Amino acid sequence: MKKILILSLFLSLLAWGLLPAQTPSRSDRVVVAYVTAWTDVMPDPTLMTHINYAFGHVSESFDAVRIDHPERLRQIVASKGEAKVCLSIGGWGSGRFSEMASTALRRKRFAESCAAAVREFGLDGIDMDWEYPTSSAAGISSSKDDTENFTLLMQELRAAIGPDCLLTFASPASARYVDFAAVLPLVDWVNVMAYDMGRPPRHNAALYKSDISGRISSDDAVKRHLDAGVPADKVVMGMPFYGHGKEGYADYVDYKDLPAPLEGHHEVWDPVAKVPYYANADGRLVLGFDNPRSIGEKCRYIVRSGLRGGMYWDYGGDNASNDLARTVAEILLPRSFVSAGAVRPASYAGSQPRFRALLYYSDEVEEAHRQFSHQAVAFFRKLTVGEGFVLDVSQTLPEDLSPYDVIVMPDVAPGSAADRARFEKYMEEGGGWVGFHAAAYNDLSTGWEWFRNFLGGVRFLCNTWPPQPGLMQVESRVHPVTRSLPERFVAPSSEFYQWTPDPRSNPSVQVLVSLAPENFPMGLKDVVFGGDFPVVWTNTDYRMVYLNMGHGDECFTDATQNLLFVNALRWVVSQRSAGDPFLR
Ligand code: ZN
Repeated sequence: MKKILILSLFLSLLAWGLLPAQTPSRSDRVVVAYVTAWTDVMPDPTLMTHINYAFGHVSESFDAVRIDHPERLRQIVASKGEAKVCLSIGGWGSGRFSEMASTALRRKRFAESCAAAVREFGLDGIDMDWEYPTSSAAGISSSKDDTENFTLLMQELRAAIGPDCLLTFASPASARYVDFAAVLPLVDWVNVMAYDMGRPPRHNAALYKSDISGRISSDDAVKRHLDAGVPADKVVMGMPFYGHGKEGYADYVDYKDLPAPLEGHHEVWDPVAKVPYYANADGRLVLGFDNPRSIGEKCRYIVRSGLRGGMYWDYGGDNASNDLARTVAEILLPRSFVSAGAVRPASYAGSQPRFRALLYYSDEVEEAHRQFSHQAVAFFRKLTVGEGFVLDVSQTLPEDLSPYDVIVMPDVAPGSAADRARFEKYMEEGGGWVGFHAAAYNDLSTGWEWFRNFLGGVRFLCNTWPPQPGLMQVESRVHPVTRSLPERFVAPSSEFYQWTPDPRSNPSVQVLVSLAPENFPMGLKDVVFGGDFPVVWTNTDYRMVYLNMGHGDECFTDATQNLLFVNALRWVVSQRSAGDPFLR
């Protein structure tokens, strides 16, 4: 009786709209990566839940599926790890759909051919990419009956592959061409192609409408699908790993090939559309693209809106360190999915790691520094997954530092004379260093003049206390360490040091991030009332970045700051004399 009461109360609450509609939790959220037949980049399956292999096509005889580079599809299935692999059929300019779908016999044979491909290749499903029923915009044949025939085709496909196989389709941002009410019961979700919504001088894929967005934004594309009756937990929002340019930039630019702005051009963040772009001297958009910051905005939108997940076109457009795919995975997937238990795909077994890093830390430090150090070990270790690098972790400074392209030092610096001499030699011979917080601590008692000069000639002056978050201002929009960051962000709780003399007074020092003046007075017990307060800088005489964050267990809780840490590591490594290992 009690159970029935509770159940009826629950049902009435549901009926009154007092309970939220079921929203996907992180564990059933999907990340769908389109992986093309025409590249040889192997996807890192720890960064996604689903791989859509692009493409298969309707055969010349209109009644079977033909797969591009089937051997590559086999390789991807063989190294898919925990991810599922679907065959995506169609793509822009891929035709013969209208003819195939026009008769019951062809639909049936085509669906059987798809089911046979699922069995033969060990696939998990089929994704239909007919662009678009009733439209010849892509130079393909079409008919006014296509919409109805698409529904019949999807019915035939579902019957042929069975209820346990995935069936999805790609839908344009406009949400046109398909009878959603009829098709939705047949499919697991809809991949919304929220890109190509504008060309310069308009954004490729603005998250929200701004005065230079295309006619439709990603937000509009999602809402159009919701309005068409697609429930939020069947909407998978697409994101482009490419941009569109003109005036000296290619029409189609993969993120990995993003050039520096041309002479007189500069990078701008559209605060309304939430995407970056390059502007010419007149301020007009000449290249619209996405970067980790905009992809992060879009993923947070997906979470807020309770959508099923995110999709991107295409995996091969990402850079070698997977900045975009990693951003998507970090925000949309359970933490365990991208860290513990992640298995290197078989295809990487024979490939060389990109570089070698040492993380040198100590447990013989105060508790808050030990916390940061242990989290730093986990953070940097996670970055080695996939096509990564070798990370050695040690509480002693190894005898031979020469194999390392970079040494990361959270909260500790070499102390003995022998360790100091070895580190000095390593850095003078072109070594790389990423130091955090107390790693740079030095005062009159430290007695290591070389180290003080290495840091920019500075000594610890004072600190804020207790630890608290700080408003950061990014000082360089050009430097690779900070150019993908917002102009300002709040750094999670830490203790901040002030230095003497001001590192900025050294012409070799470039300050990248500093505390914004709005923070002052900062601290309760130890109060800093103002003055220049550099937080991240590089001494350009060395291959080094110093970051003052690193006190306590909250420093890795902010995606923007994590990106700063990754950028710092990558930039220091990219400057090594052996060449930039991130260039494919
Ligand atoms: Zn501290």
